[in-house]
Amino acid sequence: MAASEAVPFAKTGGLADAVSALSLALAKLGHEVRVVIPRYYSISRDSLKKLEGAMGVPVGGGEEWCAVYTAKLPGSAKQGSVPVYFIDHENFFGRDGIYGTPKEPDFLDNPRRFTFFCRSVFQLCRKIDWFPEILHAHDWPSALAPVFLKYGEKRGPRGKSGSFAGTVSVLTIHNLGYQGVYSRDNYPYTNLGWDIFHEAGFDDWNMMNFLKVGINCAGKLNTVSPNYALETRTQAHGFRLDGALRYRSADYLGILNGIDTAIWNPAKDPHIPRPYSAADMSGKAEAKEALQRKFSLPPEPDIPLIGMVTRLTGQKGVGELFYPGYGSAWSICRDMRVQMVLLGSGEAWCEHEAGSLSSRLSNFKAHIGYREDLSHLIEAGSDFFLMPSRYEPCGLNQMYSLNYGTLPIVRNTGGLADTVENYNQDTGAGTGFMFNDLTPPAIYNTVGWAVWAYYNRRPHIEAMRLRGMKQNFSWKKSAEKYIKMYEDCLASKA
Ligand code: ADP
Repeated sequence: MAASEAVPFAKTGGLADAVSALSLALAKLGHEVRVVIPRYYSISRDSLKKLEGAMGVPVGGGEEWCAVYTAKLPGSAKQGSVPVYFIDHENFFGRDGIYGTPKEPDFLDNPRRFTFFCRSVFQLCRKIDWFPEILHAHDWPSALAPVFLKYGEKRGPRGKSGSFAGTVSVLTIHNLGYQGVYSRDNYPYTNLGWDIFHEAGFDDWNMMNFLKVGINCAGKLNTVSPNYALETRTQAHGFRLDGALRYRSADYLGILNGIDTAIWNPAKDPHIPRPYSAADMSGKAEAKEALQRKFSLPPEPDIPLIGMVTRLTGQKGVGELFYPGYGSAWSICRDMRVQMVLLGSGEAWCEHEAGSLSSRLSNFKAHIGYREDLSHLIEAGSDFFLMPSRYEPCGLNQMYSLNYGTLPIVRNTGGLADTVENYNQDTGAGTGFMFNDLTPPAIYNTVGWAVWAYYNRRPHIEAMRLRGMKQNFSWKKSAEKYIKMYEDCLASKA
């Protein structure tokens, strides 16, 4: 696994969770997995072991020298331990931030940092004399690894025990919105000729596009839910790469992410007052009361409580919910007998507006910041969980919600559509509430529908909760699908 993030070492989003959880799940199924990430400044060398000797990486017509450290991925079992290797290069990674800082969100030298990283993956394998059958890259920062494999490394220097001749590559797209588009002035740093620039398909309107060329060159591709795999092949959701993805349709799959059920499980969650399960839901009522008290809401058991935990950014539909004079949160809280709690951080206008709503509405409370403990309490204590996402490659919170007996209210998009089944008020079927259009009235009406069902169809609501809690979102299930993809990739090479 070549990636720019892996929990617990470096994380900005779901990519980090997926890389580590998938690696562990594959190892538990008997596969030998190793992970390589950069050693960012924030990863202390003290807890890592240094490999002997320096490592030279051919980039930019010369060679960059770095060190390699290693550690075990936490959670590794005896029969399935996962080593992690850290590429240590002071100039590229010895600074605050993974891709940037709040002042400089995208470091100027990112194209060179991640070109270097992708090339270092091959040198690492030679150094440790370990040649994988599958090279699995994730998102744009490691998307050049499949390109280097195809153009050069397959026929590159051999190690004692083998070479990359038998290696195939897989690329996972966790979010198509981030592609790594940079000036082609950075291209010579890859050490590839200009003939390959066009042949491989780096070209993106006179720029170079890391993700696009990765899509063109990887043996197989996938994204993190079946529905997002379909959507990304359309112009509406394709972020200009829908054509490239359509071209690779035969090799492009959707595999739903799993959730970490050791951390997200109402039966053993240390952040809630009392554990609960489908067999005994009384702990959920206690969690609701604790949540109401924590957010200074009246602790009434029979008011529907709507929770949200989210990055406050356009992708999550916060404009349609909170934009002053336009968003629907104000009218939902004014017109309906509900309570609403929000935990999130992100765009300044939205943080400000959430604070302003909190002071003007008695039934809306917001906590601005990142709080693991509160996110668990909101999942457990809410009746409904609102996710009006503009797009959602997979989404984790709706899966947490389902397993916590909290009914998701979601937009019919991406992984949300794969995991939530819309309520049918005639039969009582479903696991949540869905709407199609991302507009303030659609959110208002769908929340209204859920609140109506809460007051008027309570048995349906209780049955839906239990249905959601029975859903299995384990990583084992996803890992088995990845293994099938790896096998297909190896077979098609043959
Ligand atoms: P994305 O990766 O696009 O942000 P996901 O739903 O896939 O969306 O995952 C978001 C993860 O981040 C969830 O585990 C969610 O609980 C967590 N999260 C987001 N914002 C916060 C916050 N302010 N406090 C605590 N956890 C948060």
